[in-house]
Amino acid sequence: MAKELSVGIIGGGYAGMAAAATLAARGVPVTVFESAKQLGGRARGVWHNDTQLDNGQHILLGCYHDTLKLIAQVGGDVGQDFLRLPLQLTLHNRFELKAPRLPAPLHLLVALLSAKGLSLSERIQAARFMLAMRDIKFKLAHDISALDLLGAHGQSEDLIRLMWEPICISALNTPTHKASAQVLLNVLRDSLNGSFADSEMLLPRLDFSALFPDRAAQYVKKHGGTVLTSCGVEAIVPLDDGVELLTAQGTQRFSHVICAASPANISRLFRAVPALIPVADQIDAIPYQPIYTVYLQYPAHVTLPHPMLGFDRCFAQWLFDKGRIAGQHGLIAAVISAEGLHQELDHAQLGKKVAQELREQFGITDAPLWHKVIAEKRATFSCDVNLLRPAQITPINNLLLAGDFTAGDYPATLEGAVMSGIRAANTIRSTP
Ligand SMILES: Cc1cc2nc3c(=O)[nH]c(=O)nc-3n(C[C@H](O)[C@H](O)[C@H](O)COP(=O)(O)OP(=O)(O)OC[C@H]3O[C@@H](n4cnc5c(N)ncnc54)[C@H](O)[C@@H]3O)c2cc1C
Repeated sequence: MAKELSVGIIGGGYAGMAAAATLAARGVPVTVFESAKQLGGRARGVWHNDTQLDNGQHILLGCYHDTLKLIAQVGGDVGQDFLRLPLQLTLHNRFELKAPRLPAPLHLLVALLSAKGLSLSERIQAARFMLAMRDIKFKLAHDISALDLLGAHGQSEDLIRLMWEPICISALNTPTHKASAQVLLNVLRDSLNGSFADSEMLLPRLDFSALFPDRAAQYVKKHGGTVLTSCGVEAIVPLDDGVELLTAQGTQRFSHVICAASPANISRLFRAVPALIPVADQIDAIPYQPIYTVYLQYPAHVTLPHPMLGFDRCFAQWLFDKGRIAGQHGLIAAVISAEGLHQELDHAQLGKKVAQELREQFGITDAPLWHKVIAEKRATFSCDVNLLRPAQITPINNLLLAGDFTAGDYPATLEGAVMSGIRAANTIRSTP
């Protein structure tokens, strides 16, 4: 049966390449069309001043099982590819939570009850909150904002600002007053509430194109598939017995197509097909949030006290010492997630501001040799309360959707993207 299938995949980001690798493993012929010169989409390597960067510093969590499994399947070595840290949230000079190596949920309870920077009653409130969420199996009857949920469970302002807000913003890329409490709980269920290994933080030692999409492309080719870069799909033509894809290089016909392009591009492609206009409308209604990454190259001797740590009440939210993580000595990445005042500064001002914060907080007297701000203005969807996300099945039964924004448990993350790609691939079982 597999021989009759042929699948076209639009988009070579994490969702598209996850779908491609999953189908290739089953022996299904696949062709990936990627409009950019390189694979990876919103998680891709970029070069600046002969230095390998990413379009944004990413982290993975130990509970990203599907992503980690696929990385290994296509030839990665998860032990080598990441610096794996026990769950540790440090806001410099202000707050520290560190999980001891104990069986779940003891590791979390000890971490919460021994957190530094909170009063005893705040630590107890935090532990009580997690126990209350365990009792309801992390499932709310109705979605509300994360801030409302935390407030309803007696979490103090300081506790929210120092612990829950940094977790919510880094996991959902959405401020707590807008963020879906249910999606936050989904992430807490699988990470903080999971095993010690599930709560670990994984900082990649190689760039995000190399980590998975490039390896997945090799894997797909080895299994008889094709991966085309600089080959954008310009139109989708549904047929009775398949789907045709139009590119500048010509037309190709497939039994099925998985559309894993970025939402704005999917909307453009779908709008030209009458049956798909309602899906395009739904995609256009999705709100977005930005992520800014400020890279600062200092002389090689400059380091931070930890590979990853945060700031309280600063522009820079999380700092990554790329020297400690990936041997890129003196390179610091500062991440600023979600909307905020930083968007009012131009890149030169923002670079200076972050350098000033590093000087004030760590006494770094050296000036950066260069800085580079990468502003992803539509980095992820805004994970708002009750956000309607499009299903993976479309009104055209041999055309499927994949991508971090499609319906699912997770916010816009690599794991959400990968899971959607695997689900779409697994939906394809026979010719239409
Ligand atoms: C700065 C930043 C930081 C982030 N940090 C984290 C993090 O720490 N942890 C985490 O888990 N997630 C993080 N994310 C989110 C994560 O990167 C995304 O959820 C994930 O990469 C989305 O993958 P995707 O395949 O769904 O979409 P995309 O990556 O957008 O892939 C879509 C692909 O389709 C291609 N395409 C578009 N139109 C066409 C067309 N017509 N024809 C062919 N190809 C087309 C695009 O070029 C692109 O390669 C971050 C995102 C950003 C931007």
